[in-house]
Amino acid sequence: MQTISTIKEIKEKIFAERVKNISVGFVPTMGYFHHGHLDLLKRSVSENDITVVSIFVNPIQFLQNEDLGSYPRDLTRDSMLAEKCGVDYLFTPDEDEMYPQGFNSFVEVKGYDDILCAKARPGHFKGVATIVSKLFNIVEPDKSYFGLKDYQQFRIVEKMTKELNFKTSIEPVGIARDIDGLAASSRNSYLSNEERQKAVFLHKALLECSRHVSEGQLISKNLISMMKEMIDKVPQLQLEYIHVVDRVLLRDIEKVESGKSLAILAAKIGNTRLIDNTEI
Ligand code: AMP
Repeated sequence: MQTISTIKEIKEKIFAERVKNISVGFVPTMGYFHHGHLDLLKRSVSENDITVVSIFVNPIQFLQNEDLGSYPRDLTRDSMLAEKCGVDYLFTPDEDEMYPQGFNSFVEVKGYDDILCAKARPGHFKGVATIVSKLFNIVEPDKSYFGLKDYQQFRIVEKMTKELNFKTSIEPVGIARDIDGLAASSRNSYLSNEERQKAVFLHKALLECSRHVSEGQLISKNLISMMKEMIDKVPQLQLEYIHVVDRVLLRDIEKVESGKSLAILAAKIGNTRLIDNTEI
């Protein structure tokens, strides 16, 4: 595996590979790998001739009061894990490389920017869409892999890719969970043992939602009150939102439609913000 930190060099390397008529898989990340990231890396390695993984903690997707400064980083461990998964190129640009002095071009995907996570994190998805567009232009992948833990991000990237005619396909990868059910996240490292035990109730509520749906309860407001009640019993968990939505548009629906719906939530425990969802 080669680690490269300039745009010029990664473009040259990929160009040299491309003339061999090979397929390029791409996984954009912010690093501090857990088994969820590794699922994406392994999928790409198994489905493409070469895999490029980027690690870049993207400052423009963090709000002023968020955890940009303390976001966990461990490039040495990440490199070792990426190499083990069979990744060919690790792209690790610094901030000046991606956003040189005077940078002022941004990508916005309307329609998803006033709902769910975008409400509490205005500007976040503009930062995501901008960095993903830049990375797509640099890597020019055939297939790009995104986790369904960040469901709204996945839909935004999918829409942007279609509407801006990027050539890559967008490949969704299912949510990786720890043994206790908590969705794997780099931010889980912020949780104390006690907080972790409480955080698991978010997944438990989603599981209960799926169970109710399979037993015939399809009315969104009933499912939401049931989940809220479960979560409210854990005083440390502060729900930010909980919705039952159409899986593609991410807009509220009154009644669950089999195979087309999603229960999605965000909550805070202490200073840590967690998101989770389940397709229903
Ligand atoms: P991040 O480093 O948090 O920006 O995540 C990089 C990619 O990994 C994104 O596509 C995420 O959706 C994906 N990802 C993160 N956590 C998980 C998880 N628990 N399961 C599946 N994909 C994940």
